[in-house]
Amino acid sequence: MSEIYDTAILGAGPAGISAAIYAARAKLNTLWLDKQFEQGGQVLNTYEVDNYPGMPGISGMDLGEAMAGHAAKLGIEPLRENVLSVEDAGTDKIIRTKTHEYRARTVILACGASHRKLNIPGEEELSGMGVSYCATCDGAFFKNKTAVVVGGGNMAVEDAIFLSRICKKVYLVHRREELRAERILQESLFACENVEIRWNSVAVEIQGTECVTGLKIRDVQDATESVIATDGAFIAVGILPNTDKFRNLVKLDEAGYIVAGEEGITETPGIFAAGDIRTKMLRQVVTAVADGANAVASVQNYLIHRRD
Ligand code: NAP
Repeated sequence: MSEIYDTAILGAGPAGISAAIYAARAKLNTLWLDKQFEQGGQVLNTYEVDNYPGMPGISGMDLGEAMAGHAAKLGIEPLRENVLSVEDAGTDKIIRTKTHEYRARTVILACGASHRKLNIPGEEELSGMGVSYCATCDGAFFKNKTAVVVGGGNMAVEDAIFLSRICKKVYLVHRREELRAERILQESLFACENVEIRWNSVAVEIQGTECVTGLKIRDVQDATESVIATDGAFIAVGILPNTDKFRNLVKLDEAGYIVAGEEGITETPGIFAAGDIRTKMLRQVVTAVADGANAVASVQNYLIHRRD
């Protein structure tokens, strides 16, 4: 009979790392899986995190590394494997990867979320050739060039501010006349002299053959179209939960997030959810790490009360 873990943590973003730290300290026999080489999840793509208490202005990369280092110090590190499916076999859960089949009494789903796409002509064709979903990763390629950011949330505004320090000119294209981003970020954006905002505009086509040369936009009020000449198009229009593989395992809401409260308890006994993947009001690093801790507490509670 193969080993049966107390818990399997899927994902190594802030929620998964926090869960791993709490599981290690609780001495749970833990399996930890993540498909990425580096731990930290989306935080690694964030230039600066300025709202994580005690770490003002820390870079996303440094915060991710510090969290991963903390887990490693407790003797827990993720195996680099892509989870293909999780099956609820009653008291045990079966986690399948390309090369292994694992068994665990509980599973913590902490697989986070991915970038939403615009699904417009040119987006896929020019991906990596000027189309990017990560300004902190790719911004340096646009030194003294022009870049367009699409979106109006925290990510888009942070990206535009970050790019304004590198690029000659930055455009922000937003579909409404008001930004969704936090006020403090908006103020920083409005202070950037080389950032121009195109309000009430949607991106309709990314132009270029071998690399991006322009972004065609449409004014939502009068339907007029125009082209912004640009070298880069950074898409920051939100995130989608990575829940496709778990559709038959747990209940999802209409947007695809796993229905679970603060304790991380899903409607499927023994399956827990933590971080951006679950229904919640605020998706931030600070709420993700809280989720990881709560999910482990729920796992411990479940294991104590479970009758085999
Ligand atoms: P977000 O807050 O969901 O904002 C998405 C933005 O993209 C919105 O402005 C939305 O417009 C726009 N949008 C969505 N679909 C679009 C489409 N098809 N075409 C054009 N525009 C579209 O997403 P986010 O900025 O990527 O942030 C994701 C999560 O991470 C959020 O929970 C955010 O708070 C968090 N985050 C936090 C920080 C931080 O705390 N410093 C930094 C980055 C991200 P509307 O406004 O019109 O809906």
